[in-house]
This record gives sequence, structure tokens and C-alpha cells, in this order.
Amino acid sequence: MEDKLRDLEKVARRLEPDKENRKKLEKKAIEYIDGYMDNITGHKAFQTFDNSINSLLDDPIVDGEGDLSEIFETINDRVVEPGLNLTSGLHFGYIPGGGLFSSAVGDYVTAITNRYAGVYFSSPGAVAIETRMVNWMAELIGYTETAGGFLSSGGSVANLTAIVTARENANLKAADFSRAVVYLSEHAHHCVDRGLLISGMKEAIKRNVPLDEHYRIISSELSAQIKKDRENGLIPWMIVATSGTTNLGAIDPLDDIADIAKKENLWYHIDAAYGGFFLLTDEGKKKMKGIERADSVVLDPHKGMFLPYGIGALVVKDVEKLAAAHRYEADYMQDTKVEAGMYSPAELSPELSKHFRGLRMWLPLKLHGVDAFRKALEEKILLTHYAWHKLNELEDMEVGPTPDLTIFTFRWKPEGVDDLNKLNESLQKHLLEDGRVFLSTTNINHKFIFRFAILSVRTHKREIDLFFDVLKEVKNKVMAEVHA
Ligand SMILES: *Cc1c(COP(=O)(O)O)cnc(C)c1O
Repeated sequence: MEDKLRDLEKVARRLEPDKENRKKLEKKAIEYIDGYMDNITGHKAFQTFDNSINSLLDDPIVDGEGDLSEIFETINDRVVEPGLNLTSGLHFGYIPGGGLFSSAVGDYVTAITNRYAGVYFSSPGAVAIETRMVNWMAELIGYTETAGGFLSSGGSVANLTAIVTARENANLKAADFSRAVVYLSEHAHHCVDRGLLISGMKEAIKRNVPLDEHYRIISSELSAQIKKDRENGLIPWMIVATSGTTNLGAIDPLDDIADIAKKENLWYHIDAAYGGFFLLTDEGKKKMKGIERADSVVLDPHKGMFLPYGIGALVVKDVEKLAAAHRYEADYMQDTKVEAGMYSPAELSPELSKHFRGLRMWLPLKLHGVDAFRKALEEKILLTHYAWHKLNELEDMEVGPTPDLTIFTFRWKPEGVDDLNKLNESLQKHLLEDGRVFLSTTNINHKFIFRFAILSVRTHKREIDLFFDVLKEVKNKVMAEVHA
């Protein structure tokens, strides 16, 4: 048996490199990371690809050890290069963010020390830091100390959990689901629909409340619809407002909707996944007046705080309601029941074992200070105005309404072209092939429209100006094709 153990240990120890091998691995990784960061403004925003990438599916996973250089080559050439470059300041699609270097360092420390942030008993400091981050966001919203929440993997899971909390709070039973009504904008994020589906409430009635010309919920229409539903024996249950719609960046009238939610006694949820951190700015605070009156709010630090993907947050005005929706009992957890003075994430979310997400947020906040985030967000708002005005100055562009935050729409509309959808599709095709800048597109009333979303930490005036240079060049290319 001793021989056998020795043999097993010898191979098993490959999993735990000695100092020399650790240094080798670290050196390779750091070299790669430094090379990447040193040239970060030089990378394309989009790299076209073909399905040869899918040969990764046949990538052999074998018993023996691999070659470090080959491994990093695969990471770079097959994983990092193709597709959308989310670290680029020239990424203006979807909701950009960028990814802070300091946050990545926090994650590195987190993974090496591998503290268990699920329950206080295991790592009180990790739980305290996560709670601190949630409380900091609660203060930002304007909640009092009754608030609480948790750090999720992203906005989708946070919204799902809000729906479950609202369901439990209203004590809805399966038999009620088909009469329960949720009120929202047609521009609410699709993860709300998905949250209803996953939470077992796909039969709930979804009312798309009519929107004004800025794509914001019309609150009088909301009132009227609730009244009508009640008269028809339905169960008005939840209002979902969006603070910065993903598609168009519109902020619903949060304060007016709060009046209605209060009067009608409905759960009021605000999805501020994109817009929430603009509360750090005066302009954002003004535009989101009334947010503190919501029962629950979702924020996405991997958007407005520029953190790498994998962190969202749900903050609930009354933490007891969140806890009531997530209670659990398990005999093997009996050691963990200690007086903590705070809830543990496992008591407030669906996760038990979890990534310790607190450090990747806390470290950048402590290191750079809140003002760095505030000024960066103010900068993005100002850059958006700059870009919006500059596009309006071009005579061949049709530009959408003034942006509430940092998203607006436009399309190319030169004289003498009939099929504008085809023209703009062609513009997008050429922009992707060029790849220096990236914008995503959407569809509004059957019109093919470009979205301009400015939220990457690496977007500054230089990047906006570069966008206009690229646009001009690519437009000429498309026009040459049209006239060929
Ligand atoms: C991004 C976004 C979501 C989804 O969040 P993920 O972090 O991508 O899961 C939900 N709502 C809004 C308004 C968003 O912008």
C-alpha cells in the first residue's frame, strides 16, 4: 500500500506545482497579460471569424502534461482574438464595460486564497465585505439600514431572484399564477420574461404599458390598466420599471410609478442593471429620482463599474423579504448557525458554494476611490452628448431622441437611397469586416437601426473621434459599392 500511495502522490503532485514550476507558470501568464495590456488600445473591437474555431470541440484532453506555450497560444489565437473585444474602448455595442485590471487582481487573490463566501462561519471577513458592497449600493440607491441583498453572477439572475421574492411576498400560489399581472415596458430586458418562465410563472399576464415618444412608460396608462385588471378579477402583482433600457437607454418615470405602486400596493421592482451606477453622478441622481421608493433594485457592477463579467447585484428594501424567499434547512449545515450580525449570502440567494465576488469590487473601490468611478461616468455622459451632437451635424444621418444616459440610436439616410434597411445592413457588414469599431444594431418599427452605447472605461474623446473617421471611410466604401 505504501508503494501505491507513493506512486499516486507522485503523479497527483503535478496538480500542485513547486515554487520553480509556479514561477514558470506565473511568468508566462504575466508576460501574456502585460503584452495584452500594453497594446490594449491597439486591438480591433471586432475580429471576424469562421467556424474553424469550432475545432476546439475536438481539442484532445489527454492524460499527459501539456506545453505551456501551446496552451497560451490557444488561449490567445482561438479564445481572445476572434469575435467581440470587450476590453476595447472602441466597443460601442450592447452595454460595454471594459474590465478593470485592478478587479482582475482582486479575482486572482480571491481564487488563490479560495475563501468560502457562502456562510459567515466559514469566512466572516469575506461575508462582511460582500455585505459592505451591498450596503454601499443600498446607500447609493437611498435605502435605509433595513435593506440588504447579494452579489449575483449578473443582472439576469438578480432579476430572477427579485421576481421570486415578489412572488413569495405576495404569497402567490400556483393556482393564482394565470391571474397575476406584471406591468412593464416592451423595452424591459428579456431576462424579466425569462425570470417569469424559470420561476414557474410563465402563465402570468404581462402588460406592456404604452410608452411616450422617448420610449418611457406613460404612468397614467399604467394606472388605468391596473384599474381595469382589478375590475376584471385579475391580481395586479408587480411593476417592473427600467432605469436605462438596454435597447435605447430610456429611464421610466420612477417617482410617478412609485406613487402608483404605493397606492395599488404592488411590488415595485426597478431593473437598473445598466443605469444604476449613474446614481454616482448628479445628472443620474436627478434622472432617477424616486428609485429609493422601489421594493427591489438590480444593478450590474460589470456594466457601470467597468468590472469584468460575472457580477450583478440585487438590493431589496426590506432584507427580511429576500431572506423569507430563500430560507433553507440542512442538518449538515448545523455548525454554520452562529451569531453573525448579518445575513450570509447563502441565506439570501439561490447559491450555496459561490465565487467570492466581493473582492473584485471592493479592491478597485478602495484602491481608486469612488471619485474615479464618478468622473468616469460623468465623462461617458458628456462623451455621449458630444457624439450625439456630432452625428446630428452630419446631414445624411437620422439620429434618435436625446439620450437619457449614454445610449442613443441613429441610421444612415443619404438622399436618393430608397431601401434604407438594406443600406444600413450593408454599412454594418462593412463595419464588422473593418473591425476597428463595433456597434450593435436593433430593430425599431421595422427599421434597421444602429445603437451607440458608451460605457467602456477605455472610451475617451480620442475613441469617439476615431469612430467618426472610421464611419466616414466605411460609408464611402459602401457608397462606391452601391454605385458600382
Ligand atoms: C444587461 C442587462 C440585464 C441582464 O444582465 P446580465 O448581467 O447580462 O445578466 C438586465 N437588464 C438590463 C436593463 C440590462 O441592461
